[in-house]
Amino acid sequence: MQQDIFTMGVDIGSSASKCIIMKNGDAIVAKSLASVGAGTSGPEKAIAEVLSQFGGSLSQISWICATGYGRNSLKEANKEVSELSCHAKGAHFLFPGVKTVIDIGGQDVKALHMDGAGRLLNFVMNDKCAAGTGRFLDVMSRVLETKISDLAQEGAKSTKKVTISSTCTVFSESEVISHLANNETIPDVINGIHRSVASRIAGLAKRVGVEAPVVMTGGVASNFEVVRYVSEELNASIATSPLSQYNGAIGAAIYAFEAYRHQLEDDALTIGTSK
Ligand code: ADP
Repeated sequence: MQQDIFTMGVDIGSSASKCIIMKNGDAIVAKSLASVGAGTSGPEKAIAEVLSQFGGSLSQISWICATGYGRNSLKEANKEVSELSCHAKGAHFLFPGVKTVIDIGGQDVKALHMDGAGRLLNFVMNDKCAAGTGRFLDVMSRVLETKISDLAQEGAKSTKKVTISSTCTVFSESEVISHLANNETIPDVINGIHRSVASRIAGLAKRVGVEAPVVMTGGVASNFEVVRYVSEELNASIATSPLSQYNGAIGAAIYAFEAYRHQLEDDALTIGTSK
């Protein structure tokens, strides 16, 4: 009987570190998330937590692949893979046949156009601006003293349209403060923020050419109001998964499995030719 192969994918993002352990490249056996990203203790915390959930040690992991903004800093990694490649692979695993992936993380928005068979055809990314990203929502949630995980629920209580017209995070923050000073309610202001973010995201996604099936990944995919408004703007239904934020780490763990298998094949070839 063949022994199971365990691989690890670590996605070190700008605001969170995600870790996945997979068995034989096709089953998730452990996952962890530390809410701090690159340049912090986040990756170490995420690795320690995923290993404790796995109930084993690093020596049982055949190959580790790092991705994300902070991928170059992970000393445990056997290989680094670009975010785009990992997101494409992760999305095809979570949503087989997907053609458009909209990934919204803490610092960037990516729209990927895929061929339905897991290959990346084209992509578009936002510029350095935080508008339309998780960072924008993080700043607003602080101003509104509402937890990031409660934004969608609160925004859904809105009964009146409040417009956030500026796309700049700094100016939008002032706009939010002045709406609150004018006695607009928190749900109405949150709703305005969600619509503003969704319109930026949809604008970017349209540039890549949106083709169904469409999915949303990254931490912001947990915000069902943002998903709803992007879906309305694109006139397309959008699927999400409870594992959306782990998408890049899942892709990295699959890459790790493939890289390990290649290495085994190369080793077998070398042994074969040296005989
Ligand atoms: P990165 O890879 O850049 O660190 P992630 O894909 O991990 O980004 O997403 C992080 C963002 O997701 C945060 O900036 C935050 O805005 C958003 N987020 C995280 N958790 C939640 C949640 N429970 N509900 C809504 N949004 C969330």
